[in-house]
This record gives sequence, structure tokens and C-alpha cells, in this order.
Amino acid sequence: MRKKIVAANWKMNLTLQEGETLINDILAAGLRLKDEKRVVIATPFPYLVKAKSLLKNYPHFYIGAQNCHQQKSGAFTGEVSAQMLQSIGVEYVIIGHSERREYFGETNEMLAQKTNLALGQGLIPIFCCGEPLDVRRQERQNEYVEVQLKESLFHLPAEQFQKVVIAYEPIWAIGTGLTASSAQAQEMHAHIRSLLAQQYGEDIATGISILYGGSCKPSNAAELFACPDVDGGLIGGASLVAQDFVAIVQALQA
Ligand code: PEP
Repeated sequence: MRKKIVAANWKMNLTLQEGETLINDILAAGLRLKDEKRVVIATPFPYLVKAKSLLKNYPHFYIGAQNCHQQKSGAFTGEVSAQMLQSIGVEYVIIGHSERREYFGETNEMLAQKTNLALGQGLIPIFCCGEPLDVRRQERQNEYVEVQLKESLFHLPAEQFQKVVIAYEPIWAIGTGLTASSAQAQEMHAHIRSLLAQQYGEDIATGISILYGGSCKPSNAAELFACPDVDGGLIGGASLVAQDFVAIVQALQA
């Protein structure tokens, strides 16, 4: 059975103390998560070790990094490798967030390398894909996402690919307050799953978690998560407010 996941992406927000309070407030809500449900908290790099220790007695909670470098190791000042993340017990890593693609020039090819290294270290990549507004306006979103998947993921052998989580994040919905309608989300998620089925077969496609991201909040989470191909969400802004994040996780439970 594929996993249902709500993943928080804190981006470059919060101090360590604020992050600790946020995690403690989320835990204080006493969420009871069933087997196939997971919460991932992707903190900034310097907080991962602390987050790991705060979450250690909460089996459905995992930590995630927001990025890793595309080279294994070496003279890349300021960068963090997949192996470093593995060595501190990180379980998930977000790969190819649209902000990384836009502000840090990450290409599909670089993201393929990052995915390889992450999987090689036993990390679960949360691979982000999604189209900008002009592409959506021209109704070319299906082809756009297909190229992202083909160029960054479809080289993987099936046994590696089945470990990947995909997050569909239409760029026009990220941090803008605009959300894809549940019909738009379902349509794209079904399209992605059909591409996975063509490449890897129905069984593997059915087992992959596909998360939605883009202004997901307590008021729309339940409707989005009720779509048959939406297996949870990647949450930016609303993950910084304990009450909102808890409500979104509860929407996954419903
Ligand atoms: C994101 O950045 O992954 C995201 C979904 O952000 P927001 O929820 O703020 O739109």
C-alpha cells in the first residue's frame, strides 16, 4: 500500500529555538498516525540533528533535508552531500524544488545526479516537478512535467525508482495563495501515474506516493487529499504554524 505523507518544507525560515518550539507544539497535538501515514519535517541543515532527537520517540515522524549536492564529496565549499545527510540519520531529501531550479540554476540533469546520490545513501528523495504559469496558460503542463520526470528519474532501475516520492508543485501555486483546484491536481497526478505505469508498469506506478504542493492549507487540504491520486502534500508556508500544520496532517487522516 502506498504511503500517505505530509511533508513540511521550512525553507530558510525560523531560528533553532523557533523550530524547536514548532516541533514541540506539533508533537503536543498528539497526532495518532496509522501505519501507512508519515509526517516528514524538512528543516534547514543546521537543525536536522536537533529535529532528529526531538522526533526520536515518534515512529511516524521523519526528518528531511531540503537539498543535497550533486557531487559525492570534494571541494564544494558550503555544500552538503547525501552521505553527510545519511551520517546524521536523515531519512528524506527534497530534490529539485522549484526555488532551487530557479534561484540556483538546478537542471534536470543535475537533479538526476542528486537523486542517484541520495538513493545510493539510502535517502528517500522527494522529487519536485511542476510547471510555471506561462506553460499552464498554454496548456503544455503535461509535456513539461513529463520531460522533468524523464530527464531526472526515468534512468533509474525499477528497484531504485520505487523508493522515490514525487511532489507535483505547480509553480504558480507556490507561496502565492493560488491553489490548484482538486480537479487540476487530480488530473496531473493521474497523468504522472500513467507516465510511471508506461515506464515501470502498473504495480510500481500504483505504489508510488505523489504529493501535491502549492498553497495547501487547512481549508483545502482535505479536498485535495481526497483525490484518488493525491497521496498527501508538501507544505511550505502553512508548515510554519503548528496549528495549521497539525490540521493539514489531520486532513490526511480523514
Ligand atoms: C513549497 O514551497 O514546496 C510549497 C508548497 O510552498 P507553499 O505551501 O507556501 O505554497
